[in-house]
Amino acid sequence: MRKTLVLDLDNTLVASFSTSKAQLLGSCDYVVSIPREKYHDTITIAVFKRPHLEEFLDVACSLFDVWIFTASDKSYAQPVCENLLNSKERFKGCLFRDSLVKGGKDLSIFNVNMDQIMIIDDDEFNFQNNPKNGVTINSFGFDTITIQKELRLDHELRDFIPLLKSVADSPTVFEPILQYKQFHSSNFQNCDISPLTSSSSNTPAVTSFHAFSPFDDMNDEKSPNSATSASSDILI
Ligand SMILES: [Mg+2]
Repeated sequence: MRKTLVLDLDNTLVASFSTSKAQLLGSCDYVVSIPREKYHDTITIAVFKRPHLEEFLDVACSLFDVWIFTASDKSYAQPVCENLLNSKERFKGCLFRDSLVKGGKDLSIFNVNMDQIMIIDDDEFNFQNNPKNGVTINSFGFDTITIQKELRLDHELRDFIPLLKSVADSPTVFEPILQYKQFHSSNFQNCDISPLTSSSSNTPAVTSFHAFSPFDDMNDEKSPNSATSASSDILI
């Protein structure tokens, strides 16, 4: 029986920036336009696919029942899932902000045995109720300044494919997830795990910033993964 894989959206699979800059809107993979009644205007959001996204999703969907579970609002995330990720054909479904429990992603909502479900998210807060089921991925899309460099150098999704295969082949998700965490923990001091880290530093680039969800700023409401980016393009 196939296990269930739950994937975060923002900063895990895509990076999104609310912006009016033609350069960003012209170079991204998808643009979402969302009218804001409160401000009598419409904002545009440039969405970038993370490198190796298609390869990762092809493997994931061949091995797992895949769900998207995002803390972002449906008005932004649903068109991204449907039009950019082809969610209706690929995934079992998509859950949005209104499915969060106390700001987090409670895996019991999927109604499967807990040893048969894994979540990948750039913010471990989101799976704090099910830590043995979750693996943290380095965030993608820090800001509009670094995005082009990230698009060239990021290979996190490709690097996660062996873990997907290991989890799919194991009786439960727990053992391979634990082994993965132990391996990366033991290599923490000496291994530069991010291509974006300065080679002169011994400190691995475990991202300490908060993941960005573009709709947070539109609502004047902050989710647990709302942005604190310095880029003026992001904050509207
Ligand atoms: Mg995220």
